[in-house]
Amino acid sequence: MQLIAAQNEEVTINIDTLSEHVYMLTGKGGNIGVFVGQDNVFMIDDQFAPLSDKIKKAIKTLTNLPISILFNTHMHGDHTGGNANFNSKTTTVVAHDNVRKSLKKRLLENNKLDNKILPEVSFSDDIAFYDGDEIIMAFHVHNAHTDGDAMVFFINNNVLHMGDTYFSGRYPFIDLRNGGSVEGYINAQKKALILINDETKIIPGHGRPSNKKELESYVNMLVFVKEKVLSEIEMGKSLEEVSDNTDLLSPYDKTHGNGFINPKRMRETFYKSLKKE
Ligand SMILES: [Zn+2]
Repeated sequence: MQLIAAQNEEVTINIDTLSEHVYMLTGKGGNIGVFVGQDNVFMIDDQFAPLSDKIKKAIKTLTNLPISILFNTHMHGDHTGGNANFNSKTTTVVAHDNVRKSLKKRLLENNKLDNKILPEVSFSDDIAFYDGDEIIMAFHVHNAHTDGDAMVFFINNNVLHMGDTYFSGRYPFIDLRNGGSVEGYINAQKKALILINDETKIIPGHGRPSNKKELESYVNMLVFVKEKVLSEIEMGKSLEEVSDNTDLLSPYDKTHGNGFINPKRMRETFYKSLKKE
């Protein structure tokens, strides 16, 4: 999700403890994952630049160890906005190839190319990190929320950070302009379900910490929406007709339609994506 950071708004960084070594930090923007390893900290996403100092302070309450890796789950500004503030001689920024490409493109378009913002290591399919007993597995999922999404699984801590391939408790933002798709989004979640078990803690890109049971019902919701919109497309309905059909997704609009993506936008996004596929 992309949000504009309010400059003077007071933001508090809250910490949820998800396992012995993994924490979730919330402030404004995408949920941050923090793994405190033997000698280093592995961090996932960094919200907006004005929050970097607060985020660093919050991490200091957990450990004095240095942040060795900052991993970006995708290119949106509410997940990568602090890159330049965290990137240092001792902190390496890592992301999927397309995250680097999109960030570079966006910076060049705005005449603001700054290498400190760009990932210094990029990968195409997956990459593993090792720290003590922990194996941190990051893997790319195709055309889901964007074209550069990756999830990060802390295997022994049994925590999965899904980035914006999961908006727990609310309709998802699927960024069609940046390579996202309904089909890819559902497939990404199904891939996550294969990896995890009933005890896994999930860090969604937005929303509260979640679990397998909730993710299963979320996939069911997405499949329901997909089938409803597809049948409208097959009946020859136009974008406007589907966009205005307030009954179409009614069972879910009350529970999931109060976030950044309202029911109308949900119907439109699914229509546009499925019409193409
Ligand atoms: Zn996003």
